[in-house]
Amino acid sequence: MHDDADCIFCKILRGEIPCITLWEDEATLAFMDINPANDGHALVIPREHAKDVHAVSEVAISATVLTAKRVAAAIDAALKPDGINLLQCNGPAAAQSVFHYHMHVLPRYEGDDLKMNWGMRPGDMEAIGKFAERIRAELG
Ligand code: 5GP
Ligand code: ZN
Repeated sequence: MHDDADCIFCKILRGEIPCITLWEDEATLAFMDINPANDGHALVIPREHAKDVHAVSEVAISATVLTAKRVAAAIDAALKPDGINLLQCNGPAAAQSVFHYHMHVLPRYEGDDLKMNWGMRPGDMEAIGKFAERIRAELG
């Protein structure tokens, strides 16, 4: 379970580091992000230590998504943001900084200017199709 000695989120799960808890159940914990990108920024983690989407078990990722949905509904009701991003990062190039699988529940406010927007650039349909072929080959 939450047994990685050096993992900061495992330390939170073991109670060695405090956190502001929102919700906990047998499989997950939801708590406030200590560096909020916006007011109400929360995180959801599985109790099981796994570094990313590739390592996390199907049971743990399912539980995490269900808790994220529950927390998103509560944020929506409590804070009435203009929108909510459910965001999850894998690898440093994707901005992952804590290597215990987690999902951000990030309230968004009109004009908050958070930079997650890569804009809309029309793609080359032939190139898109070729990438799809390569991905489908791995999906089986
Ligand atoms: P990542 O960049 O890996 O997607 O997100 C990690 C998140 O964990 C960051 O938003 C960061 O602020 C948050 N975080 C890192 N250390 C702690 C901590 O000790 N307590 C809490 N509550 N959040 C943390
Ligand atoms: Zn961990």
